[in-house]
Amino acid sequence: MDFSLNDEQKMMIDTVRRFIAEELKPLEDGLENDGGLAHDKALAIHNKAKELGLYALNMPAELGGGGLSNLDRILCEEQFGHTSDYLIRRAFGNVYEPLLHCKGEQVERWLKPAVAGTRTCAITITESGAGSDAAGIKTHAKKTETGWVLNGSKHFISDGEWSDFFLVSAKTGEKEISMFMVDKGLPGFTVGKDQKMMGIRGTPHLELFFDNVPLEPVALLGAEGQGFKLAMGALNVVRLAQVGARAVGKATHVCELMLEYANDRKQFNTRIGDFQMVQQMLADSVIEINAARWMVYHAAWMLDQGLDAREQIAMVKVHAAETLGRVVDRAVQVFGGMGFCKELPIERYYRDARIYRIFDGTSEIHRTVIAKSALKKGAQLFDVNR
Ligand SMILES: Cc1cc2nc3c(=O)[nH]c(=O)nc-3n(C[C@H](O)[C@H](O)[C@H](O)COP(=O)(O)OP(=O)(O)OC[C@H]3O[C@@H](n4cnc5c(N)ncnc54)[C@H](O)[C@@H]3O)c2cc1C
Repeated sequence: MDFSLNDEQKMMIDTVRRFIAEELKPLEDGLENDGGLAHDKALAIHNKAKELGLYALNMPAELGGGGLSNLDRILCEEQFGHTSDYLIRRAFGNVYEPLLHCKGEQVERWLKPAVAGTRTCAITITESGAGSDAAGIKTHAKKTETGWVLNGSKHFISDGEWSDFFLVSAKTGEKEISMFMVDKGLPGFTVGKDQKMMGIRGTPHLELFFDNVPLEPVALLGAEGQGFKLAMGALNVVRLAQVGARAVGKATHVCELMLEYANDRKQFNTRIGDFQMVQQMLADSVIEINAARWMVYHAAWMLDQGLDAREQIAMVKVHAAETLGRVVDRAVQVFGGMGFCKELPIERYYRDARIYRIFDGTSEIHRTVIAKSALKKGAQLFDVNR
């Protein structure tokens, strides 16, 4: 097994790292204090990232994307974790993999503009009555002579305000769920309030309402009744990248700050890093981050080999999200009062980390997936040659 990165990968990581340090980091405090970023500033980082070829890195090169392998994408996503959710969205884009199932006219209308960054898309599955039970939705689409008519509502939709169109799950039969591409501005489609969150300031999370929204036949993604399955499959890699790899990046960043502080801060005439109880917090963080990182890389490698990595990604989701949670908690402790004080970003990282255990499937749901699979397949689950 070769664990080393090649020169191209190192250069790519360096480019992303420098872009984040020079262009995004200086915007973080303002974003946190103001709760948003002026439109011209958001556009400026979007355009600059595009110029450097850093937009839509996960999309195929023939569509204008970065054409990266899963592993290479993960290496970049880990770096993205060093900055804020909103800034990642604006600079690097959130072009969701389910869109790759666009066919014919759909490619020009939705897929290509999303890859080019001229139109932004959000994923809308969750409803107030259906979260973990994603199949329990009430939103439905009825076939008409001219296409479909959509009724229902969604909530917690990340980036809904900035988005031009939405990938919406809707019932098209008693047990059948399909996905539709729904443009903002269609009659009967209204955007509700921004649901304020504990962290990830700047990113809006919106309610959406569909009241007899007319959809053209071309709005249906994939075959009728199959779109949901297809989208959920494609979202697996999103979970690995946007939760697993970013959580590892975030935890790494916080750990670096914690180490620096433990080296600098003196109490009882010695640096706090000399106290064994502080050392335990540092050592546990380093161990857990490294374990999470290799789990992320391994799952990405599996995807690149064309292997089914569903269970590995469920494990990554739980372990990376919970590692991040433990690391930020220790960071607050190591920083003492300054960890709780808004003069430093540690308390922000603590708040921002909490959602990782909830979105994209809660830890409990992923543990259920892992346990069911282990009960069925036994020790095979641990066989890397599977
Ligand atoms: C900041 C943020 C951004 C989001 N962005 C989006 C987005 O862009 N698009 C989108 O569609 N959704 C989005 N969501 C929704 C998110 O995916 C859901 O919140 C998540 O899936 C959990 O659903 P829920 O909140 O309804 O909790 P519930 O499903 O009601 O769960 C409540 C509790 O019960 C537990 N539970 C539920 N079922 C089981 C079970 N079978 N076994 C054991 N425990 C169980 C859960 O683990 C949890 O602890 C976002 C949410 C937030 C907070």
